[in-house]
Amino acid sequence: MRYGIYSDIHANLEALQAVFDRFEKENVDEYICLGDIVGYGANPRECLQLVLEHKSLIVAGNHDYAVAGKLNIDFFNPYAKEAVLWTRKQLNEQELQYLANLDLIQKVENVLTIVHGTMNFPEMFDYIQTSYDAHLTLELLDTPVCFLGHSHVPVAFFQGPTVSFSMDEEFAVPKDGKTLVNVGSVGQPRDENPQACCAIYDDEAEKVSILRVEYDIEAAIKKITTSGLPEILGERLRYGR
Ligand code: ZN
Repeated sequence: MRYGIYSDIHANLEALQAVFDRFEKENVDEYICLGDIVGYGANPRECLQLVLEHKSLIVAGNHDYAVAGKLNIDFFNPYAKEAVLWTRKQLNEQELQYLANLDLIQKVENVLTIVHGTMNFPEMFDYIQTSYDAHLTLELLDTPVCFLGHSHVPVAFFQGPTVSFSMDEEFAVPKDGKTLVNVGSVGQPRDENPQACCAIYDDEAEKVSILRVEYDIEAAIKKITTSGLPEILGERLRYGR
């Protein structure tokens, strides 16, 4: 099976459409969404619809819960907070309810696990940044691989005598090992590469490929500017930070 795995769309429709086009070309069988469908960008409703049309397996991101009123936004930075409040006004009751009801962790039995932040405290939406953070999630993992998002930076961690990591575009994910894969961000990359980021997991080939996809960044920026969202949320897309 070939899984098309994507995260942190952040209401960037141009980027999401480009990612789905690429997945189609790559003959993906199943779609998996790791959360933060909304927040920051100008097309929350259209992105949610597109995710649902592709019958993705989905987990909640902090922005999804925040927009749905399920997470305290006092600790969000001012721009993120403004985007949450703006997004909440764009969605109807049914859409907000859908986001509120998303699970924090999902599993495809014996194949993979998905979560937005960490497995040890999924509801806290912490970041996996160090080998120790990775170790805490690897300890709880009972499938060969866990896919996650949240940091908007693609990176993989491998369990071994010590936890090692890789930022390669392609790497092996052995079924007798344990691996964590952060698939980067579709709609707001923060690794200084402005192209949309996503991943393909081929479980028979035991391999993950990180893909970068070009999309119409200027169109996405223009929509953010004209919608009344903070301009910086558009500007940062140009630089991938
Ligand atoms: Zn995010």
